[in-house]
Amino acid sequence: MKKDRQKNKHEAMAQALESIETLVAQAVKTAKKDPELAREYARMAFRIAQKSRCGLPGSFPRAICKKCFSVRLFGINAKAVPDTKTGSVVYLCSCGAKQRFFYKAKENDLLPGLKSGVSH
Ligand SMILES: [Zn+2]
Repeated sequence: MKKDRQKNKHEAMAQALESIETLVAQAVKTAKKDPELAREYARMAFRIAQKSRCGLPGSFPRAICKKCFSVRLFGINAKAVPDTKTGSVVYLCSCGAKQRFFYKAKENDLLPGLKSGVSH
C-alpha cells in the first residue's frame, strides 16, 4: 500500500511538471500577442508548482517575473543588467521587481590556485 501511494506521488509530480512545462510554453508563445493571457498561464504554472511542491523546472524562473507573472520579453518589458562584481545578472521587470541570477561560481567554489590576489 505504501508503495502504491509513493508511486502515485511520483506520478502526480511528473504530471504537475508536465502541465507546468505546457503552461509556460503556452505563456511564452502568447506573451507578445496577449500579455494578459500569458500572465494567466504563468500564474497557473506557479500555482501548480506551489501545490505539488515540485518547484519550477530549469530556466522558468528566469523566463517569468515572480511578482507580476509576466513573461520577460527583453527590450519590451524586461531588462538584464550584468553585475560583473558579483558575477550575476539582475533582471529588471516593468513592474519594478528585481531578480538576481548568478552565473559564476562563488569564490569559495574556486580552486585555491585561482584565488590570486586574495590574501587572509
Ligand atoms: Zn514583474
